[in-house]
Amino acid sequence: EAKKRGRNNYQRYTKDLNQKVSERVTLRNELQKAIESGGFELYFQPQVDAGGQKVVGMEALLRWHHCEMGFISPSRIISIAEDTGQIFALNRWVMETACRQIKSLQDQGLVNTPVAVNISPLQFQRGHFVDLVREVLDRTQLEARFLELELTETILLGNAERAVQTLHELKKIGVRLAIDDFGTGFSSLSYLKRLPIDKIKIDRTFIKEIISDQHDAAITQGIISMVHHLNLEVVAEGVETEPQFAFLRKSQCDAYQGYYFSRPLALEQLRDYLQQRREIPSARSSRCDDEE
Ligand code: C2E
Ligand code: MG
Ligand code: MG
Ligand code: MG
Repeated sequence: EAKKRGRNNYQRYTKDLNQKVSERVTLRNELQKAIESGGFELYFQPQVDAGGQKVVGMEALLRWHHCEMGFISPSRIISIAEDTGQIFALNRWVMETACRQIKSLQDQGLVNTPVAVNISPLQFQRGHFVDLVREVLDRTQLEARFLELELTETILLGNAERAVQTLHELKKIGVRLAIDDFGTGFSSLSYLKRLPIDKIKIDRTFIKEIISDQHDAAITQGIISMVHHLNLEVVAEGVETEPQFAFLRKSQCDAYQGYYFSRPLALEQLRDYLQQRREIPSARSSRCDDEE
């Protein structure tokens, strides 16, 4: 009986394993097709100032809706693409598409803020990353100061000296640099003063319990104060409720991102969102004024 159960367990185990492997192989193939035929989409999540209305930035987030497999999360896509090496083509597509789409919104007078793009450490550490950034800006004609790169502390693992040098080269081009998911890594804080960065994004795991957990509240306030003393900007990620927003505002956070303000938006939705918040009157409305 025990032997039989053991065999069953083993069979179930190999079956699960086979299924997992074949699922990954399928995903890998589908990913390749999507890369070649433009099957992805970018969504954009606004970042707002302390008033809660003014858009001060936005983050581009990868979305893939597969016709049969349905919605596949970006974390899953990235993890497979990193294993297979498809990450480089994918990231290039993300960066170029984000720059092109934001440039077109700028040309329509809808937005005047940077767009942030997530950069996977693998891509950052590979040679020619700086060339890629230059090339993308050149092709899309987006001004460098309107591109923000979101990096994690992980880029410092391995050859930290080289990473710091790459950051300086990027800064020379004029792009903005942000540290994403701040507070979740394991590196020492001393690196902060050595990096030519502009912005810190407090990870949403701290924001989540900010009202109910006094430790998370203290950590968040500590991060905000430290970041300001370093003369950098600080953004809170994952703001979902009014009390969280109020607490962060009281703590002098600079910018806010989260479902409380807006979910990530498809390009068309973003256009509507920006149109509603536009301060400059559009050409059409000023013409109407003239007619009156
Ligand atoms: P991230 O860069 O930290 O992005 C923020 C994530 O938090 C996004 O998840 C966003 O949808 C989610 N989020 C925003 N506001 C809230 C909120 O109020 N509550 C909650 N619960 N979540 C919120 P998403 O889009 O699933 O992306 C997950 C991660 O996948 C990203 O984390 C980023 O690390 C990675 N990622 C996404 N797009 C790309 C990409 O184009 N390239 C690379 N390399 N990584 C990407
Ligand atoms: Mg990010
Ligand atoms: Mg983050
Ligand atoms: Mg994250």
